[in-house]
Amino acid sequence: MVRIEELTFGYGAGGFRLRVPDFTLQDGERVAIVGPSGSGKTTLLNLIAGILTPDQGRIEVAGTEVSNLADAERRKFRASRIGFVFQDFALLDYLPARQNILYPYRITPALILDAEARDRAETLAVACGIGDKLDRHPSELSQGEQQRVAICRALVTKPRLILSDEATGNLDPDSKARILDLLFERAADAGASVLAVTHDHELLPRFGRIVDFAQFREVDAA
Ligand code: ADP
Ligand code: MG
Repeated sequence: MVRIEELTFGYGAGGFRLRVPDFTLQDGERVAIVGPSGSGKTTLLNLIAGILTPDQGRIEVAGTEVSNLADAERRKFRASRIGFVFQDFALLDYLPARQNILYPYRITPALILDAEARDRAETLAVACGIGDKLDRHPSELSQGEQQRVAICRALVTKPRLILSDEATGNLDPDSKARILDLLFERAADAGASVLAVTHDHELLPRFGRIVDFAQFREVDAA
C-alpha cells in the first residue's frame, strides 16, 4: 500500500530534516507510529498524502508515485484513495457537521455525491455517536465530537489508505477503543491499510506493528 525508498525532506535551510531509508506498509496492515513530539510523525503523514513533496526519494501509494503527480492529479488521488484524520481536525467552521463529513465530495469533481455516499455519512456518524449532531457547526461541538466528525470525513470515501494523526487524542478511554475499533472495522471492510500516529499506549496492542519514529530524524544534516 505504501512504499518509501531513500526519502529525505527538510523544512528549508537549517530546518528540521527527515530521512526514511526504507518503509513499507502492506495491504490491509495496521501500523502504529510512536515517537516524541517534534520527531516528524505529522511531516511523514503529510508526505505520504502528497501534501508535502520530498526533496529526494520515492513515495509510492497503491502503486502510484505520489510525488510525480501534478498538483490537480495529486489532490484527486488524495481525495479518492486516502482518508486523513488531521491532528487539529481541520474542520470548516462555516459548514455543519454533515457537510464537513461530505467535504471530500464538494472539492473533488471525480467523487460523486450520491444517495449511497449520504447514507454512508449518516451511518458513520451514528456509529461514532454523533448521529444527532449532524446539523451543528464545529463551534457547537465538543473537542471529542469534532474529532468524530473528522474521523467520519476520513472514512466516508471508503479510502484504501487511512492516515490518522492522534485521532483518538481528545476522547475518553472507552470512546478511544470504540472509535479505533470502528476505524479498523471500516478499514477491514474496504481492504484498507491504517497508518496511525498515537500516544495512547493502551491502544498499541491492537495494531499489527509498531514503528518508533525516533530513528528517522536526521540529526546531522549534511
Ligand atoms: P511530530 O508530529 O512528530 O510532533 P512534526 O512532523 O509536526 O512532528 O514536526 C517535526 C519538526 O518539524 C518539528 O521540529 C517542527 O517544529 C518542524 N516543522 C513542522 N512543520 C513545519 C513547517 N511548516 N515549517 C518549518 N518547520 C516545521
Ligand atoms: Mg504531530
